[in-house]
Amino acid sequence: MSTQSTAASITNTAAFDAAQAVIPGGVDSPVRAFGSVGGTPRFMTRADGPYLYDVEGNRYVDLVCSWGPMLLGHQHPDVVAAVHEAVDAGLSFGTSTLAETALAELITQRVPVERVRFVSTGTEATMTALRLARGVTGRNLIVKFAGCYHGHSDGLLAAAGSGVATQALPGSAGVTAAAASETIVVDYNSPEQLEQVFAEHGENIAAVITEAVPCNMGVVEPAAGFNAFLREITRRHGSLLIWDEVLTGFRASDAGGWGLTGREEGWTPDVWCFGKVIGGGMPTAGLGGSAEIMNHLAPLGPVYQAGTLSGNPVAMAAGHATLARADASVYERVQTASDALRTGLVEALETAGVDHSIQRAGTLFSVAFGTSERGVRNYADAQAQETFRYAPFFQSLLSSGVYLPPSVFEAWFVSAAHDDAAIEHVLEALPAAARAAAA
Ligand code: PLP
Repeated sequence: MSTQSTAASITNTAAFDAAQAVIPGGVDSPVRAFGSVGGTPRFMTRADGPYLYDVEGNRYVDLVCSWGPMLLGHQHPDVVAAVHEAVDAGLSFGTSTLAETALAELITQRVPVERVRFVSTGTEATMTALRLARGVTGRNLIVKFAGCYHGHSDGLLAAAGSGVATQALPGSAGVTAAAASETIVVDYNSPEQLEQVFAEHGENIAAVITEAVPCNMGVVEPAAGFNAFLREITRRHGSLLIWDEVLTGFRASDAGGWGLTGREEGWTPDVWCFGKVIGGGMPTAGLGGSAEIMNHLAPLGPVYQAGTLSGNPVAMAAGHATLARADASVYERVQTASDALRTGLVEALETAGVDHSIQRAGTLFSVAFGTSERGVRNYADAQAQETFRYAPFFQSLLSSGVYLPPSVFEAWFVSAAHDDAAIEHVLEALPAAARAAAA
């Protein structure tokens, strides 16, 4: 098949059939297969501002934004110009470049980290953060929260064991019991469970890893004081706090999820993980922290980490242009667009009589059906929702030209390019989608 498939030259169904013949499930990341919403995945050919365009020439208001990176919208002129300039100079050198230092400097100006190491994916960032925490503390165990996603490295694909404070079980075929056994999985928003785990295993816990705001079981708001408690209990026991901002970083607010809690409360985590926005749509991620901790990484320290394409100059250029452009006006616009969508969503669902709750964190939010009484404080709450309402809701919006995340367990993403026309298009489509969800 030609890679130059242009609009209307092929249907989405034919594109999916062709992909399935050569790619497992036809996709390179499972959620793209539309498994939980049904129907045919859309094959996109281009994007512009707030819009995506598929192979059939259909236009969609994009509420996925490449799962977060496109904070400025698609094809922002600053980013496109920076990438063109970088491409003209060479795609990859396998040496240090000025671009890496420039992006690291921007990050250290935004959040309290002194050193940043660039990698290519969020998975690598969290995987390296775990190794670093173990190397710094000389301890083995990692505590994570059920429903938080930190990429697909073995130890982080772990499911809760048979009781609190017990070793986790493999969360995927191919993950060994041994790999999972060094992870303990507890409920989010439960200080009690953490106290119990630290009481039993405190001396062997290298780190607690948390999403700055969980966004991978839908958005789940940290209870007031919960993140400060994580900071306190890890410090009390000599463990590190790994703060995963891969999704929330420089998106939930100008200083990510930390900007919503730690900045005001006056505390900082030990190891930060970044991704998505810092690559502006190119494959880049990173980890950061104090010089004292980060200097444990090779070549200065004994914790090994490396990458052929780490700090790739084209990716650095995209990330730098994105972060440099992301000033207060960008976050204001993203917040305004997000608030307008949220308000319209609530109105449509209320009118249609669909029980729901909206979970939000800064510019990010998601909807959970049938949860108004209990709310959603953790993964068990998220799983208990009426998930069956999402597929008809999603399909109604899709047929009206709105591209939502194809899973109810994802946040809605907007960009600074979501102008009034794009938002109005979604608002007009929401009442019919709400009625479909009610059925
Ligand atoms: N951490 C969080 C919070 C994420 O949301 C993700 C991906 O969505 C990752 C880590 C993994 O990032 P990547 O998909 O780039 O490996």
